[in-house]
Amino acid sequence: MVDKSAKIDESLRARALEIVKALKELYPDTACALRYSGEGWRLMVMARLSAQCTDARVNTVCKELFARYPAPEALADADSGEVEGIVRPCGLHRTKTADIIAEMKLLTDKYGGEVPKTMEELLEFPGVGRKIANLLLGDLYDIPGIVADTHCIRVSGRLGLTDGGKDPLKVERRLAAIIPPEEQTDFCHRLIDHGRRVCAARSPDCGGCELSGMCPKNGVEPKA
Ligand code: SF4
Repeated sequence: MVDKSAKIDESLRARALEIVKALKELYPDTACALRYSGEGWRLMVMARLSAQCTDARVNTVCKELFARYPAPEALADADSGEVEGIVRPCGLHRTKTADIIAEMKLLTDKYGGEVPKTMEELLEFPGVGRKIANLLLGDLYDIPGIVADTHCIRVSGRLGLTDGGKDPLKVERRLAAIIPPEEQTDFCHRLIDHGRRVCAARSPDCGGCELSGMCPKNGVEPKA
C-alpha cells in the first residue's frame, strides 16, 4: 500500500536508497528469523505465535508443535487443550491456540492448505493483520510489501525515513512509497537485523553504528 497523497521529497528517496544499499552490505544474507522450512502454513502459524514473543522461542516451541502436527489438516483438527499446552511458553496461549486452529481450518477448507496470495484473502484469517500478511506475501511469494513491526517502525523512524510516528499503517505507506518494491521484503528483515544488533529500543549503540553517518538521531540533518 503506497501513500500517493504524501508529498515525498526526491532527496528522501535518495537517502532511502543509500540506506537500502548500506543495509544490504551490512546484512547480505538476511532472512526471516522464523524457521518454517519453506512451508507456508508453518510461517502463518509461527507469525501468529510471535506476537509479544521472541522469534527464538517460537522456533523452539514450533519444533514440538510441528512434530506433533506435521500438516495443516492435523492442526485444524487438534485438541485445543493439547495445543495450548505446547504453545504456552509463547504467551497468550489460549487466544493464539484458538487463532492458529481457526487459521488452519480456513486454510484447509477454503484453500486446500495453500496460503493465498492476496492481501484481501489473507486478512480473512484470524490473527492475520497487514504486518503478517505482508510477511507471508513477501517471504512465500516475493510479492513486495512493508512488514511494519516494532523494529521496522523504530529504526526507520530514527533514520528519518518516516516522521517517527508509531502508527503501523502510516509507516507502511511511507516506506512503500520510498523503498523500491523489489527491496521491500529484505529491507524489513534488515531493519530487524540492525534493530537487534545495534539500534536497540532502549540503548542504541550509535557510536558503533555503521549507519551513524546518515542518521538524524546521530546529528545528521534529514533532508526531508
Ligand atoms: S545511529 Fe543510532 S539511532 Fe541511528 S540507526 Fe544507528 S544505532 Fe540507530
